[in-house]
Amino acid sequence: MSYEVGAFGGFVGATRRDDGKLVHVFWLSAMACDGCSVVALGANQPRIEELTLGEIPGLPQIVLHHPMLSEDAGAGFMQAYRAAADGTLNAPYILIMEGSIPDDQSLGGPGYYAAMGTGSDWPQSKGNVAAPDQPVKVSDWVWALAPGAEVCIAMGTCATWGGIPAAAGNITGSMGLTDYLGADYRSKRGLPVVNVPGCPPVGDNFTEVLKELLFYFEGGRGLPAFDELGRAVWQFGETVHRHCMKAGYYEEGVFAHEPGDNQCLVEIGCWGPVVQCNITERGAQDHTGGCMIAGGACIGCTMPGFPDKFSPFYKAPPGSAISGTTSRITGGAIRRLRRASMANANTEPLWDKAHEIPTAWGRAADVTNPVRKVNAFFYKKLQYSGSVNHAKRAKQQPLPLSRDILRQKGIDLEASVPVLQEHLITREEL
Ligand code: SF4
Ligand code: SF4
Repeated sequence: MSYEVGAFGGFVGATRRDDGKLVHVFWLSAMACDGCSVVALGANQPRIEELTLGEIPGLPQIVLHHPMLSEDAGAGFMQAYRAAADGTLNAPYILIMEGSIPDDQSLGGPGYYAAMGTGSDWPQSKGNVAAPDQPVKVSDWVWALAPGAEVCIAMGTCATWGGIPAAAGNITGSMGLTDYLGADYRSKRGLPVVNVPGCPPVGDNFTEVLKELLFYFEGGRGLPAFDELGRAVWQFGETVHRHCMKAGYYEEGVFAHEPGDNQCLVEIGCWGPVVQCNITERGAQDHTGGCMIAGGACIGCTMPGFPDKFSPFYKAPPGSAISGTTSRITGGAIRRLRRASMANANTEPLWDKAHEIPTAWGRAADVTNPVRKVNAFFYKKLQYSGSVNHAKRAKQQPLPLSRDILRQKGIDLEASVPVLQEHLITREEL
């Protein structure tokens, strides 16, 4: 990449780096709620500030031009957009699209659904799109800036696949960036549109992709792996369900009745088994939060079919009738077997030998129960076959002589305060 210090400041942080390596990042917002801007600001791997301050070794400093964050406003703010569109910026740039793109090119007049700047900010080398005092459609800025960009990144589900503004019944004809630019679009670097879906996306997914692309442009790394729809494979290659913290409940056939319940949410409308999203392992922000973590079902917000193909929300997906019933049957049996193994794992070998569990916290399992003993016997047989039998070794271990020392010393414990009383519960009741 060849660099010259651009003449346009944008939001560049406190100082410019001495090496003059700058990449401009132009943020465009059309049919959007600004949620994508908010999550980008909350990202921390890396943080936007690290990029704008040029703090990441091996990466150029970015100059962020953002309608809400830049220090400049009006014509001063639009200068850099105009220079980029007519090829006089003299520095590489990246285009970020937030929100879907309305079909306002088809309105055939000055009407628009989303606009930025006025005709006086528009480069005349690109023809005349608006009178000097009239708004310029964002969709005009997109076609003017996309061909010269090192890469175009669609940020959020509206920009990637159209999202909510493109849902059935809309009057704007909204669409994603790929639909707008067409399948033949390639950036200056030969890249199709890179997509970071989500409503809103995980902020780190966006800054991470931006960072990886900058590394690639610098020659430090190869092109990051993107799937057939331009999503980062390492972020969107797996389903929500595979990494969901409630997947164990699903496997054991235990399902929630209401949002916020602890169990698997599939029967109250979770689409996680067929949705590609990494929020379950990454969290919403700072590795915390996220849909299932907060007790919410997945409504497929990262997917091209969102929202229409996932509505009505909070109704069990048709496919879950088969998989859920199967889990209920097989999972129910597995759960009971696991309970038995768990009861065994919850006892010390010493307690098995002494036939007593010395706890006052609950009604502990009865270690003398014959069914339990038979279970444990066969379980251990399988467990230790071909290996050292630690169950046998533990049996040969003598009981410690000072076990139950207070009773041995004759200390009267009847005077203890009986705080537990009605709180005594068995594990099964937990
Ligand atoms: S809550 Fe959803 S994603 Fe999680 S285990 Fe259940 S179905 Fe799968
Ligand atoms: S889990 Fe589902 S609803 Fe939540 S962010 Fe991912 S795709 Fe969207």
